[in-house]
Amino acid sequence: MKSHVRVAVIGGGVVGCSVLYHLTKAGWKDVVLIERDELTSGSTWHAAGGMHTINGDPNVAKLQQYTINLYKELEQISGQSCGVHITGGIMLAGTAERLDWLKMVQARGRYLGMELDLISVDEAYHRFPLMDKRYFVGALYDPIEGHVDPSGVTNAYAKAARIQGAEIYRFTRVTELKQRADGSWDVVTEKGTIVAEHVVNAGGLWAREVGRMVGLKMPVLAMEHQYLISEEIPEVAASSSEMLHVIDFEGEIYMRQEGKGMLMGTYERAGIPWSERQTPWNFTHELLPPDLDRIAPSLEVGFRHYPAIERAGIKKVINGPFTFAPDGNPLIGPIRGLRNYWVAVGVMAGFSQGGGVGLSLSNWMVHGDPGADVWGMDVARFGDWATMAYTNAKVRENYSRRFRIRFPNEELPAARPLRTTPVYDRLKAARAVFGVSYGLEHALWFAPAGMEPVEQVTFKRSNSHGPVAEECRAVRHDVGIIETSNFAKYEVTGPGAEAWLSRLLANRTPREGRVVLSPMLNPQGKLIGDFTVIKDSAERFYIFGSGPAEQYHLRWFEAQRPDRGVQIRSRRADLTGFSIAGPKSRQLLQALTHEDVSNQSLPFMSFRSFDLGMFQARIGRLTYTGDLGYEIWVGVEYQLALFDLLISKGREFSARLIGSRALGSLRLEKSFGSWAREYRPIYGPFEAGLDRFVDLRKNDFIGRDHAQRERDVGPGRRLVTMVVEGTDADVIGDEPIAHDGKVVGWVTSGGYAHHVRHSVALGYVPANLVREAAGFGIEILGLWRQARVISEPLFDPRGDRMRG
Ligand SMILES: Cc1cc2nc3c(=O)[nH]c(=O)nc-3n(C[C@H](O)[C@H](O)[C@H](O)COP(=O)(O)OP(=O)(O)OC[C@H]3O[C@@H](n4cnc5c(N)ncnc54)[C@H](O)[C@@H]3O)c2cc1C
Repeated sequence: MKSHVRVAVIGGGVVGCSVLYHLTKAGWKDVVLIERDELTSGSTWHAAGGMHTINGDPNVAKLQQYTINLYKELEQISGQSCGVHITGGIMLAGTAERLDWLKMVQARGRYLGMELDLISVDEAYHRFPLMDKRYFVGALYDPIEGHVDPSGVTNAYAKAARIQGAEIYRFTRVTELKQRADGSWDVVTEKGTIVAEHVVNAGGLWAREVGRMVGLKMPVLAMEHQYLISEEIPEVAASSSEMLHVIDFEGEIYMRQEGKGMLMGTYERAGIPWSERQTPWNFTHELLPPDLDRIAPSLEVGFRHYPAIERAGIKKVINGPFTFAPDGNPLIGPIRGLRNYWVAVGVMAGFSQGGGVGLSLSNWMVHGDPGADVWGMDVARFGDWATMAYTNAKVRENYSRRFRIRFPNEELPAARPLRTTPVYDRLKAARAVFGVSYGLEHALWFAPAGMEPVEQVTFKRSNSHGPVAEECRAVRHDVGIIETSNFAKYEVTGPGAEAWLSRLLANRTPREGRVVLSPMLNPQGKLIGDFTVIKDSAERFYIFGSGPAEQYHLRWFEAQRPDRGVQIRSRRADLTGFSIAGPKSRQLLQALTHEDVSNQSLPFMSFRSFDLGMFQARIGRLTYTGDLGYEIWVGVEYQLALFDLLISKGREFSARLIGSRALGSLRLEKSFGSWAREYRPIYGPFEAGLDRFVDLRKNDFIGRDHAQRERDVGPGRRLVTMVVEGTDADVIGDEPIAHDGKVVGWVTSGGYAHHVRHSVALGYVPANLVREAAGFGIEILGLWRQARVISEPLFDPRGDRMRG
């Protein structure tokens, strides 16, 4: 065993072996993998080995494509078979809604280059004659689906890594991790200690235990999962080609051929967790006792839908555990505040995702950047609020819904309410329909009297359409009041604060008492944040950003922080706020204070602190609605007082509570982008239309050279706003955009812009098409709708309302 290494990967399942392989491929040869037992001895060995490219997040789907295409390369390097069977697959829809969902999946696949075919039931039957046609209404065919041999794949990664310089220590358990002063780690094992510059937690079923070694609570939980293998089926035995991979949503079932029979697995509704608190170290190559009663409801449907399987009978039942994160996607990346500790855990589809996870993590370690948009897999998307009990509730929910439709406007109920602000009960009493973001409850919209405050889930316009229209009307004609507590809030202080921020952000820092908007770029010049930056005093700045990106941004801020002269702290918990917006918002604000709030005294993009009623507030003259408006921030203990004041004084000005749905609609008519939709780490600031917020003449800043190049050469694509010919359904994001019949781009977000009465989409198209107003189409629920690029915002293009 080596005594000093660059990287020690802990865990020899499919994920750890993939990370090891990719590190060697990226050029780091001095790397080792430490495995407690034999390779594959966690959840990997008993996996069904199924793989597919489809994922709700297109960026994760791309990494799944990468994984599946990697197996050939692995076999060539290692000489080890991965047992790849590309059979093709069908997803069967039993309801009209599911068919709509499949249409959406097909549309999303278009710009990823996936060749997904929507096929009839007859065609599906032709390809998969075991099904009973009566239960289905259509299907989606994907030629790149199939299965692999789990052990073959894991060993192929391991062998290829060894050939490229890595070492693997089997039957060696890591028992302790101790960090040295220089940031490297003492990796204590049963067979001695290795000093590693970096460690990777790829502990799979033991991800929590390997996390606890460094005081980390990993939000993962294992669920029991069962599949059965049938006896020989004559139709299968007689078939000249291998049976397809099948997903049957109504039965919550997946299937593939195994020998001359079929393998049938299910994500049952009554799923149960395994080893909720602690995974036993002596669990090795073991299975759990089968429990057919638990999956009986799914099996009944399965036997009805595929009678040949019932006729053949069950040969074997496998019950094994594997881990999930609360939202079902992997958790990868560095951990905030823990130098040189990396995770690749919660990978629930190791054979579709393992390659992409290994590639992204190794890129991140070797080059400082994952090299792909891994926001959907980044461990930083969960904060310290994602405790074990939270994880337990969400993972159960996620497991039981694995094959259920998640509607674009659907909010899931588990683990709620968890984080609330003091005003929660008041909003509830005002008939708010709540959503959740980063664990925090926030109002989506308010149901009028006589309407139940519950949103009907749909792919089309829902029952919120009318009430949201009224909320938008209030903002454009009178004044709207919206809680803004779900923004992330940071305070940056110290003598070095200004210089540090100026190096971190692409825009210049504001003058005292002023506000600027600023993108933040990574060293490759791509967008990793967009912020409102306020200079409160010489050595104090406030930064407001996207709520769900809090850990992501704090991790970056802290990694870039100089040793002295700058303090950064999150004000998430103690600063809460409301925004008031609309032509009467100034009158409302004036009614709360003796200070002069006229345009001269409190102009657009200015910031001041003064008393409102009986408490002090910080006021910024800007809103995301594109209207005259203010953001008002107070200590959390004053939030109720502020709310009551706004409501009581607001009556005079016909003020109305509004929710984030209305805000989302209002920002569309101003073409304002938002984080994780229009602004993501795959876009440069010029393609995202943030030109005016990038100051290339100021001091050097992170990503400046690339930004300069992007400007000089000109962006290859551009964010545009489109008006879509609409009926009863709007875009939700990720639809393909075609020009003259050819797919050229994708939608990032959109919806109905109530005030201007247009269905609107924001999205990226090639820069050379930006001036082509006509000829565009966007696919919504299987129908191509005409779309038109607009060159200026639909509402108040000169910004007179905001500035007035
Ligand atoms: C019944 C079943 C069916 C499945 N079907 C599919 C499927 O069809 N398709 C698919 O893609 N996925 C499937 N999966 C999921 C798949 O198995 C997982 O995605 C995958 O195994 C995760 O791999 P991993 O490397 O993260 O974890 P694991 O396989 O659990 O590996 C972790 C490894 O780390 C080692 N380890 C942990 N702690 C230490 C330590 N302290 N020191 C040394 N070593 C340590 C363990 O011994 C273990 O070998 C299935 C799972 C089950 C249970």
